[in-house]
Amino acid sequence: MLGLMMHSPLTVGKLLDHGFRVFPQKEIITILPDKTRHQYTYTDLYKRSKKLVYSLIQKLHIKKGDNIGTFAWNHYQHMELYFGIPGAGAVCHTINIRLSAAQTEFIVNNAEDRFIFIDATLVSFFEPIAALLPTVEGYIILNAPASFTSSLPNWIHYEDLIKDAPDNLDWVEMEEDEACAMCYTSGTTGLPKGVLYSHRSCCLHALVVSLPNNAAISSYSRILAIVPQFHVLAWGLPFAGVMAGAVMVLPSSNMQPEALVKMIIDEKINLAGGVPTIGQGIYAVLKTLNPPNLPLKDFLIGGATAPPTLIDNFQKEFNVRLIHAWGMTETSPVGTLSKLQPEHESLSDGEKIRIRSLQGQEALFIDIRIITENGQSAPRDGFTVGEIEIRGPWVINAYYKSTSRENFSEDGWFKTGDVGHINPEGYLQITDRAKDLIKSGGEWISSVALEVTIMAHPQVKEASVIAIPDPIWTERPLAIIVLKEPGTSLPIEEIKSFLASSFAKYQIPDEFVFVENIPKTSVGKFDKKEMRRLYAEGKL
Ligand code: AMP
Repeated sequence: MLGLMMHSPLTVGKLLDHGFRVFPQKEIITILPDKTRHQYTYTDLYKRSKKLVYSLIQKLHIKKGDNIGTFAWNHYQHMELYFGIPGAGAVCHTINIRLSAAQTEFIVNNAEDRFIFIDATLVSFFEPIAALLPTVEGYIILNAPASFTSSLPNWIHYEDLIKDAPDNLDWVEMEEDEACAMCYTSGTTGLPKGVLYSHRSCCLHALVVSLPNNAAISSYSRILAIVPQFHVLAWGLPFAGVMAGAVMVLPSSNMQPEALVKMIIDEKINLAGGVPTIGQGIYAVLKTLNPPNLPLKDFLIGGATAPPTLIDNFQKEFNVRLIHAWGMTETSPVGTLSKLQPEHESLSDGEKIRIRSLQGQEALFIDIRIITENGQSAPRDGFTVGEIEIRGPWVINAYYKSTSRENFSEDGWFKTGDVGHINPEGYLQITDRAKDLIKSGGEWISSVALEVTIMAHPQVKEASVIAIPDPIWTERPLAIIVLKEPGTSLPIEEIKSFLASSFAKYQIPDEFVFVENIPKTSVGKFDKKEMRRLYAEGKL
């Protein structure tokens, strides 16, 4: 028997309706590329998003389900695109600005984007490929100076597009399972694949991420969204923030750690989110400035393993809680998040950091299981390792335009390609990407465990470990290290003995190379594919 409740679809327009009604004067602040500060209110966001809805439908003749690209930094106009494009019934396809021209061409053609909203400062990237994008009818230029000109076909200024539009149109009526946004995976293992989010998945994700046991987002939050809006919808922070009535601060292209620390202080940020490399950069700047009364309380960190030393240092030196979270483009992204529970309060500081360094417990509505090499579901014993499979209302069910079931189990769980275990308290620990695991003499070695331990050495800034072919052992680990102080050295025997207390002998790398920089992916993670290539070509 069905319940007798109203059918009221969960749509992202309703998140902004609520934000506008309850928090009309809340601010959205952007530090623009020229470092000027732009500030407006939720009321402005609401009205301008409505103008965009009108313009998309009446001027650009957008229909339900059309894909519209964005190629932009984090800023207030990008927020308007997050609400206005789905509000017009279309799909907000955020394109990663750091991919290669060939990958971008593939993505836009695969998505068949009809228009692309693009930052004036990024136009030069698109000009050479525009002729290869037959579905794109025109470009809408964001933040352009009056002198702006371009060889792009059919371009128009964003402000000109929306200026005469009425601001009171209703959002286009949608069913909650209809698509509202799309991101492509960063394509480190092949061609990028499209992940199509629904209104429902975005609303539920925003709701759950804002819960106290999750990221605890509320009208008291002042959020610095460092994680790009072109990467997994900025971890859902724009939707969660507006729904909860948070002050949103957006850095646009000002992504240097010094600039971010200035924003944290000037804008009294109490919650930020970014990948570990950004966290490392912010920590280094805080060390030199040592600002009194740092407003920052929580920093969501994920996208790659957050080194325990970083979590420890932030806590001890700045009283900032790094909250380690795990997820993927395919999981919207939040799957797990690591916070202490009341029963952990009496533990030693070291033990608390150990728990907070795990990838954490499942978010509400998310189920995770570990499937071992022989296809069994592993017990939650804290050591039985296998591939992580996940299901839930914001987890992918199929890639865009793909019929492949390769990444899905027979009973419909998504196979993440990450490897790890879950302890009896339900905390997940990622030990590797399946493809990054090292199998040496028939034994598995976790590259992540080696990396975080090497990074705990006081002289080491960054470390990454890859598998290299070995005639005897099949594979051996190779450690690639960046030292904190250029020009200094770290004897290999010293690093080996540093590792000896945590690892079996066979797990300790025989080879170490010292480099100035570790190659990073388009979203700031260690690029192991590139390192394996450099190694194979003798360039490491
Ligand atoms: P992406 O889809 O680009 O966000 O990448 C998702 C992948 O990043 C995951 O499958 C993991 O391999 C990795 N990842 C994300 N969060 C974490 C984390 N907290 N610890 C370790 N790896 C992570």
